[in-house]
Parts: sequence; structure tokens; C-alpha cells
Amino acid sequence: MHRCDNCGYLYNPDLGDSSQSIAPGTLFEDLPKSWKCPRCGASMKSFQKYNCETSSNKKACL
Ligand SMILES: [Zn+2]
Repeated sequence: MHRCDNCGYLYNPDLGDSSQSIAPGTLFEDLPKSWKCPRCGASMKSFQKYNCETSSNKKACL
């Protein structure tokens, strides 16, 4: 999982991103460079790795 620092959007590789034609199963590392946060439009550089197991906000990962 990767999380947008700007808006909190979580990229889930199991789901992909249908709004930008990203197929389910696409790893964050394999996203096209042009990919942007579907919620706020931030670039991939705004995303940080996010570990659901250690997060205090597990609901964000559901
Ligand atoms: Zn965002």
C-alpha cells in the first residue's frame, strides 16, 4: 500500500485504479510515471509507503 501525503488516499495494488485504467494487481512501483492521485491529483512523489499492519488507523486499509 502507498498513501498520498496530500489527501490520505491509499493506493491498493489489489484494486488498481479503474479511473486511470490501472488493472487490479498493478504494483505501485509498476504504475506509469504519469499516474496521479485520483483524489487530489498529486504526483507519485507525494506517496509514501504505508504499512496497514502497523498503522493505528486500520480502517483506512479496508
Ligand atoms: Zn491525494
